[in-house]
Amino acid sequence: MIELLLFRTGAVDITRGAFAPWLDASVAIERVVAPVWSALIRTPEGNIVFDTGLHPVHVSNPYATFGKPPPDREGLAMRIVMKEEDAIVARLASLGVKPDDVAIVVNSHLHFDHAGNNGAFPHATFVVQAEHLAFARGKPNFPGVYWDIAELRYLPVTGRTRVATGVEVVPTPGHAPGHQSLVVDLAESGRVVLTGDAAFTRENVVRRQTTAMDEDEARESLVLIRTLANGDLTRVFTSHDADSWATWRHAPASYR
Ligand SMILES: [Zn+2]
Repeated sequence: MIELLLFRTGAVDITRGAFAPWLDASVAIERVVAPVWSALIRTPEGNIVFDTGLHPVHVSNPYATFGKPPPDREGLAMRIVMKEEDAIVARLASLGVKPDDVAIVVNSHLHFDHAGNNGAFPHATFVVQAEHLAFARGKPNFPGVYWDIAELRYLPVTGRTRVATGVEVVPTPGHAPGHQSLVVDLAESGRVVLTGDAAFTRENVVRRQTTAMDEDEARESLVLIRTLANGDLTRVFTSHDADSWATWRHAPASYR
């Protein structure tokens, strides 16, 4: 029996337009506080973590990763909102899980809000698309301090890859080359998709549209995500979606 638990690792205070390119300019500059979350998947083959969330360095400094923007840019810049208890190690501890109890970490991609605590899992195997690893390495917007750490063991994969029985990574590029989503087959809930930043919100999936490095690829990925979920958007867990988050079960409650 596979069990899926979702928990918050902080939030991003960001402009609405960052996630929704269809908005009028006046609405696009409004701010929204959207969750950042990770998942624990308990399987008979071991514990899997999907994305490692924000590093707790942001608790005291919302701009710890990229620096404080100049005052005239602050209105457009992303700001991290994080409490001590949001740190993934603390969240897992509250579920009775230690970092060494995690066998596999899947990173959707290596942005700092999805790979911020990779360093906390020195004994895990990290499953990342080979194309993404090659793309992210050395790029300032994928700060290596959080993930490009000598002692970590990366398993570069290519294409759809089974991680455990009923758990599979599926490439969903567009947000970044080699971005991937995680598909989990649950006994009661059916097949669910953890999208990572292939879809920030449910509306991205509904409209088949998002902001992305490559918008055509991103659209194809959104179509694929709908197909994987058999059109049932209640089984699609998007990355930074305040409205949807409020409707989901949060750990210690789970999906089975
Ligand atoms: Zn993100």
